[in-house]
Amino acid sequence: MEPATFVLFGATGDLAKRKIYPALFQLFVDQKLPSSFSLIGLGRRELSHETFKSNVEQSLITFSRSEVKDADVVKKFLRAFRYHVLDVDRKEDYTKLLRLVEEREEELNITPNRMFYLSVGPEFFETIATNIHESGLGSVDGWKRLVIEKPFGHDLESARQLNHTLNQAFDEPEIYRIDHYLGKPMVQQMGQLLHSALWEQADLRTRSIANIQISANETLGVEERAGYYDHTGAIRDMFQNHMLQLLMMLMIELPNRSSVDEVGKLKRKIMKSLMSLNKMDITQHVVRGQYGAGEIKGEQVVGYTDELGIAVDSQNDTFIAAKLRVDDPFWKDTPIYIRTGKRLKEKVTRIVIEYKSKGPLKDLLIVEIGPNEGIFFQRSQSDKERSDVEMSVRSQLSFMKESVKDAYETLIHDALVGDKTYFAHWDEVELSWEWVQPILDAYQDTLIPLHIYSAGSYGPHEADELLARDGFHWWFDF
Ligand code: NAD
Repeated sequence: MEPATFVLFGATGDLAKRKIYPALFQLFVDQKLPSSFSLIGLGRRELSHETFKSNVEQSLITFSRSEVKDADVVKKFLRAFRYHVLDVDRKEDYTKLLRLVEEREEELNITPNRMFYLSVGPEFFETIATNIHESGLGSVDGWKRLVIEKPFGHDLESARQLNHTLNQAFDEPEIYRIDHYLGKPMVQQMGQLLHSALWEQADLRTRSIANIQISANETLGVEERAGYYDHTGAIRDMFQNHMLQLLMMLMIELPNRSSVDEVGKLKRKIMKSLMSLNKMDITQHVVRGQYGAGEIKGEQVVGYTDELGIAVDSQNDTFIAAKLRVDDPFWKDTPIYIRTGKRLKEKVTRIVIEYKSKGPLKDLLIVEIGPNEGIFFQRSQSDKERSDVEMSVRSQLSFMKESVKDAYETLIHDALVGDKTYFAHWDEVELSWEWVQPILDAYQDTLIPLHIYSAGSYGPHEADELLARDGFHWWFDF
């Protein structure tokens, strides 16, 4: 692996502590970091190199999945670490940073390959990218890469503006947009597992699909993210990125589609074939909700507008369900239902593919993405109740062992080796915003009502009606 300098903006932040350092440490233990590796942590606070290293060590003790017993291993890992104080707006801080980066490259005798990881709020992305460019930090003989995490914009226009500014400093192949759903082991292996699942249930390969359901249900409420979430909502926080990425990853792998080599091209093709929704469609095919008070696992919880930091009259969405159609001969008769929300009864990310059948028994292919992972085939009664589900014919086609790898391990490693397969390409991001924008406009114009649902339920009953109108129901809402 080529030597690299990892320049981490936001090195004193929560994401760095909980995810980035543990992931880097695991890569180090597994010998998957470059042998010549240097990390420069940046933050606003004055810190000595030693204090910074001891803070990183503390985060490893708390969050690392490898037992941090061997002090020598940790010490060796931390040898690569330096700290530099930087205010994102101060140009002179970048000039000083450049000197430190070059000093380290000389010390280690390595080619300038620089990865700039922006673990800071999205409001800083443009300033940082511009300053990297103007300070000369981005002028390298080797490679340079920029790693950023969603949100990529607040709507279509701001996403385009953000991308335009980033492109002044980095070309598209140099920009690694993390959507951590794409780093999940089950999402990455979905293609291969679906392939073997369909191989075992040979008749399903040729059978028509009645509908597809994609759910990402959370039991948590807004927690400490009120400031961010109240102007983001489920549609921007989950739907525009994670849910549409899941849909793309699933559809490139289903029958008649294949070839992971062409992931990007196929994903764009799928997004382009999604039928856009006009105002009338939106009123019929999109359900918008907000959680009220209720009970989750025996505990009483307050409604969204009673949460700390949320305006009492907030109209923000904490739930969305939508029906999507694909303009393609293969998919034209298959509705796709997507839903995601907070304070729902059960924490689960799951895809259910329901096959067409004449009798009451339905054949389902179920992809469990989290918290459990696996792909199952199940033949079930069309009824909703668990007791009516014919469990005896449930056959487990594939089940992955306990997932050990964190998404950040995979994604940071991929970024270091320059593999962009599981990162969001700008075209996908733009196409997703284009698809979502009319819904954002409809929300803005209050074209569709905000349904209040009880915490601990499966969302507003209008989301059930969305399927019932087509003769379906959400599977496994017990
Ligand atoms: P945080 O508030 O804990 O940390 C922010 C970091 O930015 C700190 O290191 C701070 O020093 C630095 N910073 C803030 N203003 C600065 C300035 N003017 N100049 C220089 N540095 C400055 O935030 P976080 O939770 O680590 O999140 C960082 C980003 O990652 C956010 O965009 C967030 O949405 C995203 N994210 C976080 C998580 C998570 O689990 N925490 C998960 C997914 C995405």
